[in-house]
Amino acid sequence: MYHRIGAPARKSRFKGQYTPEKMFARQMKYLFEHGYQTVSLRDLISSAEQPTPAGDKRICITFDDGYESVYTHGFGILQKYNFTAVVFLVADCINKTCLWDKDTEPILRAEQIREMAEAGIDFGSHSFSHRLLVELDTEELEKEVKGSKTVLEELLGKQIDSFSYPYGAFNETVKKMVQQSYKVAFSTKNGISDIQGFALPRIDMNKDKILPVFIYLLWEARHKK
Ligand SMILES: [Zn+2]
Repeated sequence: MYHRIGAPARKSRFKGQYTPEKMFARQMKYLFEHGYQTVSLRDLISSAEQPTPAGDKRICITFDDGYESVYTHGFGILQKYNFTAVVFLVADCINKTCLWDKDTEPILRAEQIREMAEAGIDFGSHSFSHRLLVELDTEELEKEVKGSKTVLEELLGKQIDSFSYPYGAFNETVKKMVQQSYKVAFSTKNGISDIQGFALPRIDMNKDKILPVFIYLLWEARHKK
């Protein structure tokens, strides 16, 4: 689970969300050179009910929030290795800057999203406006969960099957509504998973995940179930 690629602005309150571009490049190079394969959402969903074969080296790379830095700093590196990834977009923030958390980070523009989609990058919903879903009434929740899906499907001209909970927060009501509209959902809970579900855990990536740590996390993910 990545968020932003590059160097944080000096006064940024979100330094923990950045993965420096060089670090990201080293990580992708490592994956490539060690035979890891990135999976598309479709593969992830269709293989979810089968047991994971021994020595499986499939990995799902995700980016939450849809920051422009995924395009400007990350996309070229992914393309270099023919890797795919899933970018979770906040539907109401496309073409704008980040409107939540009083942040000013630029968000992907529609043409950048379409270019990445044509190159094989998958997109999912990260809600309509990045609100804390557990606090919303039914009507507001519908806008965040179902409304965002409609906007993104219109933008990309294809079905949006995946959802990532803003702040990783959900309860049974939220999860139930997500289940009605999507095939899979990601949480921010730390860990790995090979089962289909609506709260898939991920491994948080940030500036602290230097290559030896990254390699250890991969090893741990492959050996701990
Ligand atoms: Zn988010």
